[in-house]
Amino acid sequence: MTEHRVKVAVPAPFFHALDYLPGDLELVPGMRVQVPLGRRQVVGVVTAVERTIDDEIRCRPITAVLDNGAPLPADLLSLCNWAADYYCHPLGEVLAAALPAGLRKLPGKAIRRRKSPKALRSPSSAGEALQRAPTPEQAVVLDALAGQPPGFGVDLIEGVTGSGKTEIYLHRVQAAIEAQGQALVLTPEIGLTPQLVERFRQRFGDGVAVFHSGMTERARTDTWQACSEGRCPVVIGTRSAVFLPLPRLALIVIDEEHDASFKQQDGFRYSARDIAIVRAQRAAVPVILGSATPSLESLHNVARGRYRHHRLNARAGAARMPQPRLLDLRNTKLRDGLSAELIDTASRHLAAGGQVLFFVNRRGYAPALLCHECGWLAPCPHCDARLTLHRARGRLICHHCGSDSRVPLRCGQCSSTDLIPVGQGTERVEDALRALYPDLRVERIDSDRARLAGELDRLLADIHSRDIRILVGTQMLAKGHDFEGLTLVGVIDADQALYSSDFRAVERMGQLLTQVTGRAGRGATSGEVVVQTHQPDHPQLQRWLRDGYAGLSRELLEERRLMGFPPFSHLALLRADALDADAAQDFLQKVAALIPGDRSIDKLGPVPAPMERRANRVRAQLLLRSQNRMGLQRLLAELVPQLGSLPGARRVRWSVDVDPIDL
Ligand code: ADP
Ligand code: ZN
Ligand code: ZN
Repeated sequence: MTEHRVKVAVPAPFFHALDYLPGDLELVPGMRVQVPLGRRQVVGVVTAVERTIDDEIRCRPITAVLDNGAPLPADLLSLCNWAADYYCHPLGEVLAAALPAGLRKLPGKAIRRRKSPKALRSPSSAGEALQRAPTPEQAVVLDALAGQPPGFGVDLIEGVTGSGKTEIYLHRVQAAIEAQGQALVLTPEIGLTPQLVERFRQRFGDGVAVFHSGMTERARTDTWQACSEGRCPVVIGTRSAVFLPLPRLALIVIDEEHDASFKQQDGFRYSARDIAIVRAQRAAVPVILGSATPSLESLHNVARGRYRHHRLNARAGAARMPQPRLLDLRNTKLRDGLSAELIDTASRHLAAGGQVLFFVNRRGYAPALLCHECGWLAPCPHCDARLTLHRARGRLICHHCGSDSRVPLRCGQCSSTDLIPVGQGTERVEDALRALYPDLRVERIDSDRARLAGELDRLLADIHSRDIRILVGTQMLAKGHDFEGLTLVGVIDADQALYSSDFRAVERMGQLLTQVTGRAGRGATSGEVVVQTHQPDHPQLQRWLRDGYAGLSRELLEERRLMGFPPFSHLALLRADALDADAAQDFLQKVAALIPGDRSIDKLGPVPAPMERRANRVRAQLLLRSQNRMGLQRLLAELVPQLGSLPGARRVRWSVDVDPIDL
């Protein structure tokens, strides 16, 4: 007897789709269905409909079909399948990440009928008037892009901040729309950098849709639907927008392609940039990557002839790129982290009417509270970490587990009252600047401050109106902002990265310093950038000063080649953590034992994680490295589905991170 079986991917950690009986329902792959799972009802996605003669397996019937003929399109289902394999993650959970929450819910009290589609306007004529004549450099790049053969290809535009990359995206998106296509623009952040969306809206009016985590569930579902019906010519979105259904996809742009936010850091750990490139390849459409500081991965692909490369060296318009200089902190007196020379420089810029940005990469007042008598440093009770002093709130906060306590009056070891804050956070620098410049408006911009809805918008408006004269900010301010009046950027401390054990630390430092440098002098006055350091002779800092990120990145690539690290090898990181001391390490030891020694795969570890104890869990990791991506993939495909049934697996939480970006 032949029967139909339906394979359904459900949002649960299974590496295989589950079988269900279709009854007399008409089903095709990509449809969302309601199915029983244990005692629950869940939303799953049909991945295949099969005929089977095997009536041994008892399976349960599908409860209901949730789409009437509007399934997840085949290209997306197939992309999700690819991603599930590549990242060794259960397909049901990949699909859950790809669908907006509104489409993952069981139909509740009322199944909301969609309001009839409002056609989104195509490029307005008012918009076209804003088209700018390209600069000579832009013209060269635009000609090259327009002259590419149709189909898939990746063009990396390496252009200093303000060189007109966005303008180039706008031209190419316009061409895609004119050919009746849809363009997907991925950006690391939308809430923080509204300017990108504004510029697209000026050019393309209501044809521009956005998709990001700050939107309501309903708005996200509406955008998803509009995209899927082909009603959005342009969609700008963050990470998960890479999974939007776009039937007429014609172009993908990835702005700030180096940015770590494109990598999801928990659950389904995927790189939106890498998936976007695979998607473009499958859809045979071009990709434009843009950055002032491209990732070493992308530069390596340029070197290997896989990506085409374009340079924009000059800023568009009158603005000039500032030449940064180092300020040697050795043997200088510091006042809350500020040297006299930096303060003098700031005073000069302020007197001339400029705005000044102080870049501090830590929130809070001070990253540690020290007992001056015995050397005790206030520790987090749950992590191998120190507590950060947030003085305005009177709290000690752990930035790793969130634990929060009142600032103690006495040392936890010797009871001395002589407790002193060590190091600088944004709050401390803000306080110091308020004291130095009582007549000028000083504001701090970090994630503590921007938590309140609308607060960031208000602050950004007051920066643009130049009401705020002095800014203290974290990397939140380093990205994409265009502040015309900003003439000086002071980096409080460049040294953290130079001591880090992470092999990507210097790459990130170079990117951050370059991005921060790009904030200065975007108006007509040329800017100044001062970087405080205790390591003024550090060869890599020197290289950055002399040759910029372009020079530093090429040197770092050479270093990676010698060390055999990415992009010259491929990594997968297995992490485990547990409540008892040895469980995670033991578990990874068993995992390591499953990996044959002869497969050209290096096993590095298991070793304790860089911060071994976090939120009371003891953490370990096992790094796998190979020259051969396919070999590593094959091994993982075999290995990962077995891990859940290893002895001890129940006592640990474990995860696999393919192409990890923090080790
Ligand atoms: P990027 O994306 O590389 O940071 P933008 O495209 O934002 O650079 O351009 C920087 C500034 O120069 C913006 O204010 C933009 O409006 C202006 N600009 C860009 N291209 C041109 C051009 N061809 N003519 C005049 N101004 C331009
Ligand atoms: Zn003490
Ligand atoms: Zn903690």
